[in-house]
Amino acid sequence: MKIAIVGSGLGGLLAGAILSRKHQITIYEKLPFIGGRFTNIEMEGFQLTTGALHMIPHGSRGYLAKALKLAGANVKIIDSKPDGTFLIGGKEYLYKELFSLLGVREKLKALKMATNLKIGNFDKDMSFGEFLEDVDLALKVGNSFTGWALSLSAYDVKMEEIYEIAKNYYKFGGPGVPIGGCKGVIDELERIILSRGGKIIKEYEVKKIEIDEKAYVDGEEFDKVISNISPKETERISNIKFLDKKIEEAKGIKISIASKRGLIKHSGVLFTPECERINGLNQVTNVDKSLAPEGYHLIMTHQAQITNNIKKEIDLGLEDIENLFKGIDYKILHIQSYRDGIPVNHAKSGIYIENIVNDKLLLVGDGAKGKGGIEVEGIAMGVLKVVNHIGY
Ligand SMILES: Cc1cc2nc3c(=O)[nH]c(=O)nc-3n(C[C@H](O)[C@H](O)[C@H](O)COP(=O)(O)OP(=O)(O)OC[C@H]3O[C@@H](n4cnc5c(N)ncnc54)[C@H](O)[C@@H]3O)c2cc1C
Repeated sequence: MKIAIVGSGLGGLLAGAILSRKHQITIYEKLPFIGGRFTNIEMEGFQLTTGALHMIPHGSRGYLAKALKLAGANVKIIDSKPDGTFLIGGKEYLYKELFSLLGVREKLKALKMATNLKIGNFDKDMSFGEFLEDVDLALKVGNSFTGWALSLSAYDVKMEEIYEIAKNYYKFGGPGVPIGGCKGVIDELERIILSRGGKIIKEYEVKKIEIDEKAYVDGEEFDKVISNISPKETERISNIKFLDKKIEEAKGIKISIASKRGLIKHSGVLFTPECERINGLNQVTNVDKSLAPEGYHLIMTHQAQITNNIKKEIDLGLEDIENLFKGIDYKILHIQSYRDGIPVNHAKSGIYIENIVNDKLLLVGDGAKGKGGIEVEGIAMGVLKVVNHIGY
């Protein structure tokens, strides 16, 4: 079949690489580079990124790893050990150790919450924040997790989605870092698509998708169109209406930092529940030294955008960083904020959009993630659904 893919983000390239085994693929990308919000930008010898923090939520065992294998991609993902630690009162704790910080009553409440989450015993319409708010530390920890992983406050995520996320976590475990960072993944997908005769057309902005007897991209005929741009934007440039709900974006701020000494000892996430704004940080050079010049570490912080006063949000993030790095030399390399058309996620986690609009128009990307799929894992879930529908 002749298949067009609009957008060369992770979702588009992943779908293209899998489908290129059997189909004729043409990918259109409006920018001069591919990978969207999942590729590297070099700055002063550091491999910063267009978006992601060089982390794959379920490492070598999750949906993205599975989809990469299906595509025939040779990407090495190093699983984080431990998954993460929580910085409380200047000391780091593993998740299980957090219970020891609570008094008897609160510990009982927290253990009950953990059990209820595992067995799904809660009102599915309740928010994660409401579920946790009886225990102050649990709410702070929950907020740092949702802020880091979903760019949302705990009050912004429904328990239905948290339950699905938890199930995936029990099944696959925590994050990992791909060697070469995000671009390591993108380069491999590009290699596969081109080696199988697929075409990637850069600096071409698609203006119109038409679905009729056939599918058309700016007048050119295809059997199917896969859209890797946001669902809202897809609807705007297409001749069919398919969205029946309000879609809100998840917004966030990332700060990239250089430091010779580094701040984190492990390859997982350092969650910071006591910070004013920063939800967590990672130090990817603990896994892949090539992501920074020799002798340096690359550290990336992430924070959900809480208010629309961006300057204030950034200032609060920088104050947190100043406190976290007390006594350690560091340099801010870059501050990036993600909102208004280039958000962290086109649809907040917990907003479910069907990938298969109809037999000729299909959606991939972070506007149409699978249930419980954190970030690129959710994108991979959507891609797997689409490629299984089409056949490869
Ligand atoms: C700060 C930040 C941190 C993050 N951290 C992580 C992380 O650590 N781990 C993780 O798993 N995820 C993370 N994410 C999320 C992840 O980066 C994104 O969800 C993912 O990269 C989005 O991929 P996508 O397939 O939706 O495509 P996009 O990245 O949205 O790519 C879409 C492409 O389509 C192109 N395009 C748009 N319109 C047109 C058009 N009309 N014609 C042609 N081309 C068009 C765009 O130029 C773009 O290249 C993070 C995101 C941000 C912003």
